[in-house]
Amino acid sequence: MMDLSGQSILVIGLGKTGTATARFLSRQGADVIVTDEKHSSELREPLGQLQREGMNIRFRPCVPDILSDVQMVVPSPGVPPLNRMLVEARHKNKPVLSELELASRFLKRPMIAITGTNGKTTTTTLVGDILSKSGMSVFVGGNIGTPLIGYVDGPQQDDYVVVEVSSFQLQWTRDFRPDVAVLLNVTADHVDYHGTFADYRLAKERIFRNQTRQDLAILNADDNETETLSRKLASKIAYFSSSRQLTRGIFLDGGQMVYRPFAGETEAYPLDMVKIPGVHNIENVMAAVMAARWAGCSRETIIKTVGHFRGVAHRIEYAGEKDGVVFYDDSKATNVGAVLRALETFSRPVVLLMGGRDKQGNFESLAAMIEKRVKTLILFGEARERIAALLGGVVETYQAATLREAMPLAGRSAVAGDVVLLAPGCASFDEFKDYKERGDFFKQWIGSLS
Ligand code: ADP
Repeated sequence: MMDLSGQSILVIGLGKTGTATARFLSRQGADVIVTDEKHSSELREPLGQLQREGMNIRFRPCVPDILSDVQMVVPSPGVPPLNRMLVEARHKNKPVLSELELASRFLKRPMIAITGTNGKTTTTTLVGDILSKSGMSVFVGGNIGTPLIGYVDGPQQDDYVVVEVSSFQLQWTRDFRPDVAVLLNVTADHVDYHGTFADYRLAKERIFRNQTRQDLAILNADDNETETLSRKLASKIAYFSSSRQLTRGIFLDGGQMVYRPFAGETEAYPLDMVKIPGVHNIENVMAAVMAARWAGCSRETIIKTVGHFRGVAHRIEYAGEKDGVVFYDDSKATNVGAVLRALETFSRPVVLLMGGRDKQGNFESLAAMIEKRVKTLILFGEARERIAALLGGVVETYQAATLREAMPLAGRSAVAGDVVLLAPGCASFDEFKDYKERGDFFKQWIGSLS
C-alpha cells in the first residue's frame, strides 16, 4: 500500500477508468487534478458526478505546464505512451503509473490476471464462472466491466479477483504482481499505439515481471517467443498447446484434453465439454482449466461449467439461420489474428464481411485462409480499398461504402449451406460507436430477413 494523502496527482483522461481513478485518489486524501483533451464543457457529466459526490477535484486544460505542480501521473488506458503529456512527464522525472498498477498496490485479495491479443474477455469470463460455480465469491473486471481501482475502493470481500488486463494498462506497471498470470497469444494489434510490435509484446510480458516462484505463469507453448520468455521468468510455468504434447501443462490427445500438473496425477478432460467454436477457444479453455485448478477448483466443477459456457456476445456468436444460410456475428474480431481464427472454425463456404476503420492490419497474411474458406469477400468502410488491393484478387470480391450497404450484398451472395460471417478485422468507429453497436446492427438486419 502507499500513502496518497496530500499528494498532488494528475489523472489524464476522464472516461470510465479516469473517473474511477479520480474518485479513488480523492477518497485517499490526494490532491487530484484531472485533465482531458476535451474541453471541460464536454465533460459536464463526469465532472458533475464527482462534484456531487463531494470529491475535491480540479480540472485543468491539457498542457504540459500543469505537470510542474504534480508528483505523479495516472494516464487513462486510451492515452498512448508517446502522447506529449507522458513524454513530458518522463522528461520531468514524474512517476507514471497506470490505474492497474495503482489498484494492485491496494488489492488485498488473490488475483488471476489475463492478457493476450485475443481471447481475454472469453477466458476471463470463463475463469470467473468456474470459480463462482466452485462456491467462491469472485470479482470479475479490469479491462471489462468495473476497473480494478473501483474494486479496491470498496470493501474487497471476495475470495478471488479475476481481471482482464490490456497492454495499455500493463505499459505503466511497476510492482504489479498477479498470483496467476495468463498470456494467451500475441499477434499484431495496437502497433500504432505502442510504436512497434516489439514494444507491444514487451508491454504484454510485463504481466510476469514481478512474479516469484510462488506465482503461476500460464503460457502458450505454440507461440514462437514463449521459449525465450520462459527463460526470463521466475514464476512457475504451465504451458498449453493445441498442436503438440507437453511434459508439463495441458494439451490435446485424441478426444481429450490432458493436463499434467506440477504435482499430482495426470488428468483428462473430455474435449466435447467445449461448446464454443474453434481451436482458439480450446486454447482459451485450456488456459482457464489450469488457472482454475491452481485456484483449487475441482475437475468435476470445471467440466460442468465449461459444458455450460456458451461464450460471450459478438465473439463468433450464432446469429440465426435463413433459407439454409447460417449467420455469425464476430464483430469483436477487430484484428487480423481474430479473423484468421474465425475462418478456421468453419468447414462450410463463407461469405465474409470485412472492413471498417483500418488499424493498419496485415491483411495480406489472410490470403491463404481466404482462398481455402471464403467464397465471397464483401468489403466495407474506410479500409475497403486497401483490403481490396491486398486481397481482392484471391476470391470474388465486392465493395460497399458502409456495413449497412454491404449486408444485402452478403445476403445475395449466400446460398443454402453457406455461412455469412461478420469478422471485420478493423475497428468500428468509422460507422459505429463501438463493436457492440456494429454487431447489434448486423443481428437486427438478420432478424429483419424473416
Ligand atoms: P479480447 O478481450 O482479447 O478482445 P475476446 O474474447 O473478446 O478477446 O475475443 C476477441 C476476438 O478474438 C473474437 O473475434 C474471438 O472470436 C477471437 N478470439 C478469442 N479467443 C482467441 C484466441 N485464443 N486466439 C485468437 N482469437 C481469439
